[in-house]
Amino acid sequence: MKPSELRKIQLKSRKLRDELIASPYSSVGSYPMFAVTSDGAALCHKCCKSEASQIGKPSGDCHDQWRIVGLDVNWEDSSLYCDHCGNRIESAYAEDQAS
Ligand SMILES: [Zn+2]
Repeated sequence: MKPSELRKIQLKSRKLRDELIASPYSSVGSYPMFAVTSDGAALCHKCCKSEASQIGKPSGDCHDQWRIVGLDVNWEDSSLYCDHCGNRIESAYAEDQAS
């Protein structure tokens, strides 16, 4: 991978991290959001904040577990857990069913 490509990926990762920290809920509908990393793991917004330096850290490894590739809404997965802290990630529709 070229350094310029890696830099682009890092910038995107940082931007997504900042978005999730600023607003853990989607702008439309206020649905709970989480971050998806390059290795397919889920990260809650709290970990994005506490591990912000890790996520933004320049790394030569393109399989960096801290690289955020996207944000997603947890619609109805009542057993979605953050891969870092292990806390359950709130869902949009499965909460009522659990209670
Ligand atoms: Zn977490």
